[in-house]
Amino acid sequence: MIVDAHAHFPRHMATPGAVRYGSFEPIIADAERLGVGRLAVSVLPFLFNGKRWTEPATAGELRQAWGIFLELHARYPAHVLGYAVAGAATVGAGPSCVGRMVEHEAVVGIKLDLAPRVDDPVWEPVFALAAENELPVLVHCSKRLLDPVAGETEPEHLAEVARRHPHVKFIMAHLGLDWLWARRVVADLTNIHLDTSGMLAMAGSVEDVVGFLGADRVIFGSDLMGRSLGDQLGRVTGARIGDDDKGKILGRNFLSLVPGGVL
Ligand SMILES: [Zn+2]
Repeated sequence: MIVDAHAHFPRHMATPGAVRYGSFEPIIADAERLGVGRLAVSVLPFLFNGKRWTEPATAGELRQAWGIFLELHARYPAHVLGYAVAGAATVGAGPSCVGRMVEHEAVVGIKLDLAPRVDDPVWEPVFALAAENELPVLVHCSKRLLDPVAGETEPEHLAEVARRHPHVKFIMAHLGLDWLWARRVVADLTNIHLDTSGMLAMAGSVEDVVGFLGADRVIFGSDLMGRSLGDQLGRVTGARIGDDDKGKILGRNFLSLVPGGVL
């Protein structure tokens, strides 16, 4: 089964040129047409609250985001899996805390809010929670060599955290953006997988990372709804790698990270 390990809802209002899906309905139609059986979705407040991703979400926004996810899952239970979104405001105790969210049957991982950075001490309880529940932690990660953004998590930050937490499974989103850089930074950290989501379909990126790290470390993700499922899937299906490697990337690797029995 093909699983998209990195999808979002709703669409990021500020993504220039983003695919203009009005609802998740066309996504489900695309998924069925393309053979994508499950989509692991995270609802992040900056996708709907009009703020920049550099601003940490408030507890109220995270509660609202979780409500949106629950509605989406209730509507498409056969397709939608999800991430418990951890924000700096909700890592502690309380009814809306991430510790409660991970108990939901459709939750297959924990997604960190994009701010603060992954190496901020505020996330330490989340890593403990992930280890305890054997859930992977999906982390936005982006190396912009020419135009770094202050406060954005880069592969070096995730590598430092993963080294301190060898029992936590991390997914580095977007192949770290500059994959030629990122794959070297995380090479010896086998508790970091890399997802393919969310960049233009540049020829050679998937082949390069598979050649350097092996197919076992790579996971298919789309970054829907800011990208379309077809071109993101094509980066893997059209890559010049073996069919067995494609099978690992398109589903088997991710399913090996998430708790058994979720599908
Ligand atoms: Zn994303």
